[in-house]
Amino acid sequence: MSTPDSTLPTDAQPTFRDLGLPAPLQSAVDDLGFTTPSPIQAEAVPALLAGRDITGVAQTGTGKTAAFGLPLLAALDADADVSRGHVQALVLAPTRELAMQVAEAVESFATHLPGVQVLPVYGGAPYQPQQRALRDGVHVVVGTPGRVMDHLDRGALHLDTVKFLVLDEADEMLRMGFAEDVETIFGQAPAERQVALFSATMPPAIRQVADTHLTDPVQIAVSRQSSTVTTVEQTYAVVPFRHKVGSLVRVLATSDADATIVFTRTRAAAEEVGVALVERGVSAATISGDVAQKEREKIVERLRSGALDVLVATDVAARGLDVDRIGLVVNFDLPREAEAYVHRIGRTGRAGRTGKALSFVTPHERGKLKHIERTIRTRLVEAEIPSPRDVSAHRARTILSTVPTRLEAGRLDLYTQLLTEHLTPGEDGTTPDPTQVAAALLALAVGDDGPQHLAAQAEHEKERAEVKGGRTRETKRAERSDRDGDRTRRHPRADRDGDRPRGIRRAAEGTRYRVAVGHAHGAQPRGIVGALTNEGGLRGADIGKIDIFGSFSLVDITKPLDDAAMNKIGRANVAGRQLRIAPDKGAPQARAPRSERRPAHTA
Ligand code: ADP
Ligand code: MG
Repeated sequence: MSTPDSTLPTDAQPTFRDLGLPAPLQSAVDDLGFTTPSPIQAEAVPALLAGRDITGVAQTGTGKTAAFGLPLLAALDADADVSRGHVQALVLAPTRELAMQVAEAVESFATHLPGVQVLPVYGGAPYQPQQRALRDGVHVVVGTPGRVMDHLDRGALHLDTVKFLVLDEADEMLRMGFAEDVETIFGQAPAERQVALFSATMPPAIRQVADTHLTDPVQIAVSRQSSTVTTVEQTYAVVPFRHKVGSLVRVLATSDADATIVFTRTRAAAEEVGVALVERGVSAATISGDVAQKEREKIVERLRSGALDVLVATDVAARGLDVDRIGLVVNFDLPREAEAYVHRIGRTGRAGRTGKALSFVTPHERGKLKHIERTIRTRLVEAEIPSPRDVSAHRARTILSTVPTRLEAGRLDLYTQLLTEHLTPGEDGTTPDPTQVAAALLALAVGDDGPQHLAAQAEHEKERAEVKGGRTRETKRAERSDRDGDRTRRHPRADRDGDRPRGIRRAAEGTRYRVAVGHAHGAQPRGIVGALTNEGGLRGADIGKIDIFGSFSLVDITKPLDDAAMNKIGRANVAGRQLRIAPDKGAPQARAPRSERRPAHTA
């Protein structure tokens, strides 16, 4: 396969036909209605068809799947024997959901390549059907590193015939602790394979993977401006920590967005905010890493169908979430990294729609906001937090806008009669004014009882004046408690890798340990606790929070463990694997970059 030899006029927009795709793939592109390749496709497809390795730095929604999926299919040898797990192409994706999405897309590109089989493999699903499919023969496997490793270990999958290897969302894959698995997988593939590596960011760890495993790659970067960011209206509001939930409720109550995602920094905060919203009558659900895949898919489906309007999520949990209905992203907490900010707001403004993003910034986080603005080269516009009065006005307008339809529907005799009775002179001889009566009805309908509502409005105005005026003693004290007391008290155990010094991460109580079993191995909290108590002589009370990730888990243990205890526990088996317990130092990629770790006011 070679690059197209047609010479384009330089000012012409390239079309897919200019990229030199084989006819069956061009037909699939036509079927999908793709006419103009996205920038990353325009660069990656010819390079990959020419047999080059590539690195692609691009945000979500830039069309990466077709950029590697089409050339990957072009590289297949349809006549080769692929049975017994001797696949020709392997795509690694960080999560089950992404693996499924990519497999589905690659399948849609392969509709005119009869006989080409694409198989998604991921943890949390039974092995047998995947093993059977591999034995019968598939050309392309799209999988999470954990499950791919398991199939390799079981001899169900072989990489010695792989011609094309893709790492999709490589930064996320390393962040989730798959670095070792990725190394092993590269090690098992033949030396002359072609590699495409995609990542939203290019930190040193990813650069190193590229330097080690790619051959003279064509480096492609799609500028951030040309991706989703420009279609999103970005705003911020200064909100002291203790006003965040109330502010969020009013923002949601006045929003015209079909659906909203609220981002928090920690799982604990996600859960708290989710509960607080439901208590206030908002149709909201929470997804964090703790939510089982099945449950997560159900929630995402409800969001997509409109059965759910608000999703509260952590960064990792919302990865790959692609729901067109999302018109608003609220950063309840500012993300630690500017990159995460870009990912978050990329959840809206999808499929050619415009979206809005609102970030809550506590008074002492203004420096952090500046840092984000500098990194994304965009100024955020300050927005007003809606007041109780704004909320009532919004609700009243919504109700009034439905009045014509209700009038149209008729059958109002019952109410007309009651109103006529009500509007006759009372004992004191006065008749209520119809407009006043309608106003009272409207007030009741929006839940405005009068005095209390007025008090809430006055309170809100006072609070906003304090925030705006800035430096009163009261706000300073509030800021201090935001920074220290309040946050740690409200989110115990939460800020896992927050503003702590490098090195071993401390749990709220005790030390955080890393064990070598995770979701990919079918680990359950129960099993981990069992091993720790049986083999390690710990009591249940010594064990705090357990976070299970793809290939590992983090466990808070309050009792100090000496080397002997660690050795003993390390050899214990959970889900058929040794625990290999060690104090958690945090994956290097999981840490914020150095600049982010300075106190906010110097950033
Ligand atoms: P990424 O992996 O970069 O986040 P995807 O590959 O998932 O992006 O593509 C995002 C969306 O854009 C998908 O719905 C895809 O079908 C669509 N898409 C991709 N390329 C094109 C194109 N050239 N023309 C029109 N739509 C496209
Ligand atoms: Mg993608």
